[in-house]
Amino acid sequence: MNSLKKPIVVFVLGGPGSGKGTQCSKIVQEFGLVHLSAGDLLRTEMASGSQYGDMIATMIKNGEIVPSIVTVNLLKNAIMVDPSKNYLVDGFPRNEENNNSWVENMTSIVDTRFVLYFDCPDEVMTERLLGRGASSGRTDDNIESIKKRFTTFHNQTKPVVEHYGKQSRVHSINSNRPVDQVYDDVRKLFQTLA
Ligand code: UDP
Ligand code: MG
Repeated sequence: MNSLKKPIVVFVLGGPGSGKGTQCSKIVQEFGLVHLSAGDLLRTEMASGSQYGDMIATMIKNGEIVPSIVTVNLLKNAIMVDPSKNYLVDGFPRNEENNNSWVENMTSIVDTRFVLYFDCPDEVMTERLLGRGASSGRTDDNIESIKKRFTTFHNQTKPVVEHYGKQSRVHSINSNRPVDQVYDDVRKLFQTLA
């Protein structure tokens, strides 16, 4: 193995319920990247009795974005477990502050390739989340939290996607289709990833 190779990172973004997690598991199966869901890392950190636990719990319920000092550290530690692998970073960066911190702290140690963006109408995502809310056990899959998550997504996350778009680093895929049809397009992208 070439020890000079930096881990490749692909950001996976899209609104809540756009299909990020579902498509990531399929990419993992076929292409062997490691899936890191920033939200899952935060939920695990919260459950571990961390000093940030209460803050994370409140912010998740309110659809707010946890400060990057917490999230970037969790992602960095997870990637450094095995830098010979390549990573799907799902649900991050969610705002400009997240992205600036990533660029500042991670540029020298990872190779950030592109943003895979799942495009889906709000109404469709809302229906999916409410369906999932019955079984997910998540504190934010209720209508009040969902509305807040959409506001945060439109006001803060979309500008980050647009920022990468200006650098021609966004691959946008229509995820308002059956899972396997969406994945057919996703697969084509990863087949070209060296
Ligand atoms: N979250 C955050 N920073 C991140 C990722 C997630 O603050 O980098 C918080 C945020 O409050 C978000 C929640 O965790 O609304 C759930 O995120 P997740 O990605 O799990 O939800 P999804 O978009 O997949 O429904
Ligand atoms: Mg998710």
